[in-house]
Amino acid sequence: MQRPAPAPADSTRAIHHGESFAEGTGTVMPPIYATSTFAHGNPEGFDYTRSGNPNFRILEGVLASVEHCEHATVFGSGVSAITAIASGLRQGDLVLCEENLYGCTVRLFEQVFAKFGVRTQWVDFTAPSAAETIAASQPAMVWLESPTNPLLKVIDLEAVCAAAKAADVPVVVDNTFATALVQRPLELGATLSLTSTTKYINGHSDALGGAVCTDDPSWYQKMVFAQKALGLQPSPFDCWLITRGIKTLPLRLKQQMANAAALADHLANHPQVSWVRYPHRSDHPQQDVALKQMRHGGAIVTIGINASRDQAYAVCKALRWFTMAESLGGVESLICHPATMTHAAVASEVKQKLGISDGLIRLSVGCEDVSDLIDDLDQALSQLQ
Ligand code: PLP
Repeated sequence: MQRPAPAPADSTRAIHHGESFAEGTGTVMPPIYATSTFAHGNPEGFDYTRSGNPNFRILEGVLASVEHCEHATVFGSGVSAITAIASGLRQGDLVLCEENLYGCTVRLFEQVFAKFGVRTQWVDFTAPSAAETIAASQPAMVWLESPTNPLLKVIDLEAVCAAAKAADVPVVVDNTFATALVQRPLELGATLSLTSTTKYINGHSDALGGAVCTDDPSWYQKMVFAQKALGLQPSPFDCWLITRGIKTLPLRLKQQMANAAALADHLANHPQVSWVRYPHRSDHPQQDVALKQMRHGGAIVTIGINASRDQAYAVCKALRWFTMAESLGGVESLICHPATMTHAAVASEVKQKLGISDGLIRLSVGCEDVSDLIDDLDQALSQLQ
């Protein structure tokens, strides 16, 4: 009797999963299906690229496989994926949002969805009272991100999802910073796991994309509907790039996370650095939760330096191997000064409440040699002496 094949590991899934739509050709990589429309009645059921394309399906297959879930739907960007989920809300619905969400998610809720009558309440989901808030306010949805940007707060996803489930409330987790290789929100009880595939999944800073993964068939239908009805679909070429990118995700992430952990330890002992935030370090406020739900510490490190806004900006600009740029997750290291970049438009009292100070710097650690990264940071920080 033949033994059933063991379930493949994530690195094998990332390379091999995703169907080929060019059977009979021997092609190792799928072609790019640059077509807007399809002949009616084709056996795969494609009709028009806004509502599906072979390159979408190939990418959706591999994303669902690494997330260990039933369904993935791809979108043109992470923000499109957020919009797709929010389009499932109704006028008057209340969404309980983690107070340290990605800035564009905040902007969408406050400046766009609010116009359609969707209400938001900002909650610190690391506070023990968060479960009671869910029970008391009976929201239509809970929206989380963990680790958060840029403070790397780690939310106990299992505990919050259990509280939401008791109140019959769906939970969205933005898993962009961790990826499915580090944590799988659906296994921790989330209804929807959202990722900007622009970041680690693609990993080469050359394409935009987003995806929503779920085991819930009705939410999957809503995502498929949003992809075509709202025109949130990606391009076949970007899907092809992201399909190529995800093949090296396990390899890239391994190097990036090893570099990030080493950099965090180095910076923690640096005289010009006041504090370091990295989820698996013992000085992280939610290290116990991070160890429980994240298989690794990720590849983002946030630090605080004792510097004015201009000095912190100058440190970022003095780096050779870290490009000062928004975004994260690529093979190249990037540095972000939230006070002048991602959070420049946030009111100063809000920044103060969240802990986003002028001396806060976020590092997206790449695949370079770690000794070059350490030397580079040391030379840039030395100007503060
Ligand atoms: N979610 C998080 C946590 C992000 O950091 C980003 C982008 O930086 C997004 C969503 C939006 O993704 P995109 O830029 O692909 O629209």
